Amino acid sequence: MSEFTLGLRCLRCGREYDAHGDLYVCDCRPNVGSDIGSLDVLYDYARLCSTVSARSIGADGDWSMARYWPLLPIGGPGDLPLLPVGGTPLLAAPRLGELNGMSSLYIKDDGRNPTGSLKDRASAIATSLARIRGAAVAATASTGNAAAALAGLCASAGQPNVIFVPESAPPAKLAQLLAYGSRVLAVRGSYDDAFDLCTQACREFGWYNRNTGYNPYMTEGKKTVAYEIAEQLAQLYGDGGAFRAPDAVFVSVGDGCIIGGVYKGFYDLLALGWIERMPRLYGVQSTKSAALAQAWREGADVPRPVEASTRADSINVNAPRDAIKALRAVRESGGAFITVSDEAILAAIPPLARLGAVFAEPAGAAAYAGLVQATADGLAGGNEVTVVINTGSGLKDIGAAIEATEGASVIEPTLDAVHRIVEEQRIPIRKH
Ligand SMILES: *Cc1c(COP(=O)(O)O)cnc(C)c1O
Ligand SMILES: [Zn+2]
Repeated sequence: MSEFTLGLRCLRCGREYDAHGDLYVCDCRPNVGSDIGSLDVLYDYARLCSTVSARSIGADGDWSMARYWPLLPIGGPGDLPLLPVGGTPLLAAPRLGELNGMSSLYIKDDGRNPTGSLKDRASAIATSLARIRGAAVAATASTGNAAAALAGLCASAGQPNVIFVPESAPPAKLAQLLAYGSRVLAVRGSYDDAFDLCTQACREFGWYNRNTGYNPYMTEGKKTVAYEIAEQLAQLYGDGGAFRAPDAVFVSVGDGCIIGGVYKGFYDLLALGWIERMPRLYGVQSTKSAALAQAWREGADVPRPVEASTRADSINVNAPRDAIKALRAVRESGGAFITVSDEAILAAIPPLARLGAVFAEPAGAAAYAGLVQATADGLAGGNEVTVVINTGSGLKDIGAAIEATEGASVIEPTLDAVHRIVEEQRIPIRKH
């Protein structure tokens, strides 16, 4: 643990624990789908402030998430795996902004992490903690990206690992696991089955459990995306501060761990006095996997499970495991949950790539589809500083991208054939 970590607090019953044990969730609800005793990691902000400053972090030459180590549940930057994670670009997207009547739209491209998704931020922490605790094996259940991330980070640290995936996991993600040398257990069942089996196996064999929404430290890794957004905005606006909060952030939601992490990141910065306000956080779900959006609309604390069936596999979740943190993030930031159809998610891939130059997997593009919906609903837009997080690379699901585009023109190998296409499709010819 960092010397600034105070302990853990259950977000359900309020009980506090010390952070040095091997505790994952509170006793009040140890393992019951969405209604779980989620733990929040507490920091001594006063002591942090007297030792570290926004400037000292800003002056760190390490551009990866290691620069934030005092705010992470690790002993120091050397505890993280060698493979750098984070430091992904915040891209200005003026043409995409214009399309939506917005002057200040940015895309945080977390598809550019080493294994191609934001999950690397959490898996870096999981790998560090597995090694610190001397675990023989780090394990996780995943629909794909969390597994690929744990596989890559464990490869970097030489940490043996076991991955539980549903037998239906997408081929690109499975290929990553196999190439990185994980032991891959393809479970004949759903993600929920794989999740429970992984938890049982971790108890049985003393493995370190990275499961999303179960391991409280995953939020701490994911929060670094918020630190980076705020640092990068401060640099872009150049008004002297080291951190600057946007007005609104859009992110897609499955289990709810990422949006909980984004909230925690801005919460930390606010508690430290390094930003002045919390941005509104918008959680975007597919209409075919909308358990959290439904709970938010109904004012419920525990979402009712759904039969999820979205094409965006990374956000296809029946019973969201990080419900408390996700609902808190949206409620306390004054944001909203937004649902978009699978058609709108696929249709978001081309404009994001063509006008924003970011190639996203469906779950990443969903965040942009949510922004389009929110501007139509008058929730966002205009001159507000708005950030869309792309959570995963388009290379994770090339089938979806091909489906979302027009396809290539197949031609004979003659210049005549090219001539015909140039005329038919009015492709511009030389400029004088
Ligand atoms: C995991 C994931 C999400 C959703 O994150 P949750 O923490 O499950 O809400 C969104 N997009 C991508 C690409 C992901 O891998
Ligand atoms: Zn509790």
